[in-house]
Amino acid sequence: MVPFDDHSWMRRAIELARRCPPAAGAYSVGAVIVGADGSEIASGYSREVDDAVHAEESALAKIPVDDPRLATATIYSTLEPCSQRRSRPRTCAQLILAAGIPRVVIAWREPSLFVADCQGFELLTAAGVTVVELPDLADQARAVNAHLAL
Ligand SMILES: [Zn+2]
Repeated sequence: MVPFDDHSWMRRAIELARRCPPAAGAYSVGAVIVGADGSEIASGYSREVDDAVHAEESALAKIPVDDPRLATATIYSTLEPCSQRRSRPRTCAQLILAAGIPRVVIAWREPSLFVADCQGFELLTAAGVTVVELPDLADQARAVNAHLAL
């Protein structure tokens, strides 16, 4: 796999999303953190370790926040990182910024289902993070969420 084959990594994130225990009130999301050398650093998915954990949060929790690889890493998330949440004090957008990850790749923008207007994309971009959207994989990322009334 070449270092930044975004579609291949996103397909891996979508595979991870399929492992999420379905929840009526939450998205099923997968996330993979990939280093500049093209190797996987960590991965996660929604509700992997508890009922409230988000995919990006679960992946980030597996590595020290000062891991030097994060400064040049890319995080793939099947859904736009959240900018508002009730379950935890910090959003995934904040966690990604705190980790210093400079590049985020998403497949699907958060629909206005639980949060009226997710600002994850805008917050990250405003903070200088490169956010790449892969709209051709949005349908697959969304299909994992067939349990929700979308
Ligand atoms: Zn989140």
